[in-house]
Amino acid sequence: MTLLFGRSAPAQKAPKKSVQYQEQPKTVGGTEQRCDNCQFYITPEQAGTEQGRCQVVQGPVKPQAWCNLWAPAN
Ligand code: SF4
Repeated sequence: MTLLFGRSAPAQKAPKKSVQYQEQPKTVGGTEQRCDNCQFYITPEQAGTEQGRCQVVQGPVKPQAWCNLWAPAN
């Protein structure tokens, strides 16, 4: 659009605080939910960064972390 909105990044990612991000996994119904088994996780190898990233949450995320947007990887 304009100079302000001209970047190619799509929608803004959610701040960690807004999604109850925590640095430990969460076990629900016997299933351990964590970033590295979430469909939104981006591995450090994929991201080309030292720490993992997330498609929908801002900033680096740890493989064993969790937030309330967790969804099972396919
Ligand atoms: S959506 Fe949440 S649980 Fe899933 S990878 Fe991103 S930060 Fe981790």
